[in-house]
Amino acid sequence: STQIQLVSRPAGWPVPQNFRTVTVDLPPLAPGQVRVRNDYISVDPYMRGRMNDAESYTPPFALGETMTGGAVGHVIASQSDRFAEGDLVIHPLGWRDVAQGPAEAFSPVQEVPGAAESLYLGLLGMTGRTAYVGLTAVAGLRPGDTVFVSGAAGAVGSAAGQFARLLGASRVVGSAGSARKVELLTGRYWFDAALNYKDAPVREQLPALIPEGIDVYYDNVGGDHLEAAIDVMNRDGRAALCGSISGYNAEKPTPGPDNLHMLTTKGLMLKGFTVGFYQDRFAEFQQKVAEWFTAGRLVHDETVVEGLDHAVDGFLDMMRGGNIGKTVVKI
Ligand code: NDP
Repeated sequence: STQIQLVSRPAGWPVPQNFRTVTVDLPPLAPGQVRVRNDYISVDPYMRGRMNDAESYTPPFALGETMTGGAVGHVIASQSDRFAEGDLVIHPLGWRDVAQGPAEAFSPVQEVPGAAESLYLGLLGMTGRTAYVGLTAVAGLRPGDTVFVSGAAGAVGSAAGQFARLLGASRVVGSAGSARKVELLTGRYWFDAALNYKDAPVREQLPALIPEGIDVYYDNVGGDHLEAAIDVMNRDGRAALCGSISGYNAEKPTPGPDNLHMLTTKGLMLKGFTVGFYQDRFAEFQQKVAEWFTAGRLVHDETVVEGLDHAVDGFLDMMRGGNIGKTVVKI
């Protein structure tokens, strides 16, 4: 099995030297184990946090060990009665072409007719669940709410914008980092308006984009975006703090919003979350997303990186905004 390991911890932006590729001989399958050929692995922003030596909601990657993360593939050998050869499974063993272990480490995919396998890592998997629970369980989105989504052309953001509309939002606006992405937001993902945060400070651009103010802010970016959103949030506005990618590669902590007094004056709620906190909502998500997907009401894009040997480059490119939609590595 070919696998990718973290060998040193990055300071600031990761570099290729922080990683190595190894080939491991897999032992014969023990009773109760399965072997899976990965078709796709997921690269995600949270993995940057795991490269640091700091406890988060997931422990740091161990140095000299194969990096873990979402993957989808087919069972190629089984010594377990839970799985048969050919089954499509999802698992957290990550950055390798072949994964092997106890059957309990793998989950059967709840397939949606017509969906490509890679979607179980994205729109129909962890990414979609994150967008859905953030809007519903965390921000308490109600029909008629106005919504702002940052990082809106990425995996979670492009799902959040569409879900918000399907859940009855009255206006959905988004931000992204290029003219092409801004065009996609309004032309393809059903956003009412969008801004390019590289054109001018978000704080200057946002008020005109959403003159009625923001009821729900879906935050993927943190920093300047969060500050700008707080400025124009309405009375009793709610923000779901999903991520703060603008600071993930910072070498020093970044300053917080300068307008937190508005939480008091406008009665705002800012609530952070991790998708894993909301497992009780996953069945509801599965039912909704399958219905929307089957009815052709969702569009999605993927950035597919070819080959495990390009996984690190694909991860870094995604962190820099080179992706549109969900980034996956095709093995
Ligand atoms: P994306 O597909 O959105 O890729 C990351 C994007 O971040 C890039 O495309 C880039 O888009 C944007 N970006 C990078 N740097 C900056 C910056 N300085 N300012 C603004 N945008 C920037 O990744 P995901 O959809 O997988 O993740 C989106 C967010 O959701 C992340 O913050 C992630 O940590 C979080 N997340 C949280 C989960 C949870 O359980 N809480 C689960 C999954 C994801 P652009 O070109 O627009 O700059």
